[in-house]
Amino acid sequence: MSQKITSYPGHEITPDEVKQGKYLDVQYKFVPRYSWAAGVAISRFLDELKGGRIVARKCNNCERILVPPRMYCEQCYRPTDEWVQIKDTGTVNTFSISHVGTDARRLKTPILVAVVDLDGASLGMGILHNLGEVEPSRISIGMKVQAVWKNPDERQGAITDIRYFKPVEA
Ligand SMILES: [Zn+2]
Repeated sequence: MSQKITSYPGHEITPDEVKQGKYLDVQYKFVPRYSWAAGVAISRFLDELKGGRIVARKCNNCERILVPPRMYCEQCYRPTDEWVQIKDTGTVNTFSISHVGTDARRLKTPILVAVVDLDGASLGMGILHNLGEVEPSRISIGMKVQAVWKNPDERQGAITDIRYFKPVEA
């Protein structure tokens, strides 16, 4: 026995219909109630950014200088030993020119993202940040860059206390 299938074509919901209350419309305000601890190493790292300094942790066993800093050396299986201040200059390790925003919309001005190996840290130790004051076509791996900081009164102890990295003038 075959069953007759009835189709019920839908239609687009218009803003006017929503205003008229034709549909169930639930307003919900999300209030998150939690806090997150950054940990010993990253807390100090962020606090130093407020002062315009980038700090790292040194492991005296393998002599690597780790940034972002961590209190434990994952190669030596032992705690790291001391804080060291490193430079706010570095080298572009890798980069991306993104024409798509975080909301998946196409961007007129691309976001320039790079991993910057910082001077004074061990090879391949870098942070992810934005590039600025540079034409996208001029960015290259190995390019020397320098941090552009926010004004001291604008800093909040966040990675965004560095606005971006710009090419070092030759
Ligand atoms: Zn080590």
